[in-house]
Amino acid sequence: MQLKGSCHCGAVAFSLTSPHPYPYQRCYCSICRKTQGGGGYAINLSGEARSMKVRGRKHISIYHAKIKPNGAGRAHVSSAERHFCNQCGSALWLYSPEWPELIHPFASAIDSDLPVPPEHTHLLLDSKASWVEVDKRKGDKTFEGYPQESIAQWHQRLGLEC
Ligand SMILES: [Zn+2]
Ligand SMILES: [Zn+2]
Repeated sequence: MQLKGSCHCGAVAFSLTSPHPYPYQRCYCSICRKTQGGGGYAINLSGEARSMKVRGRKHISIYHAKIKPNGAGRAHVSSAERHFCNQCGSALWLYSPEWPELIHPFASAIDSDLPVPPEHTHLLLDSKASWVEVDKRKGDKTFEGYPQESIAQWHQRLGLEC
């Protein structure tokens, strides 16, 4: 389906196609929580980079997360680009040079009506804040780290590619 998204102030708008638009993947890592997911997690989607159209590019800034393994010692800088609006702060999407054909928009930035997922994947629970309650429902999967299953594979398994 075609995904349309924007920041809160309207300086940035974007669109892209996604055969895998179900917002099923909840990430509890500290980067997502602090930069995007006030309720404790962020929802990552996946779309096709070559279809991406952006208006207001000059209002986009990019954050490369600083990551400290085990929370201590020297930080290394993530290669992933977290795009956000530098006028209002809305998180927009993540782009990783390791997967150049993909763009991962945050569900919070999407204006299109997304389909409701029949089950969820809760990931990076080892970095979950203690106060965050996992709303685990029947069929949901939970992972301390990353799941093996990709966003595309999840849609294929459940027959939900569109
Ligand atoms: Zn904005
Ligand atoms: Zn995360």
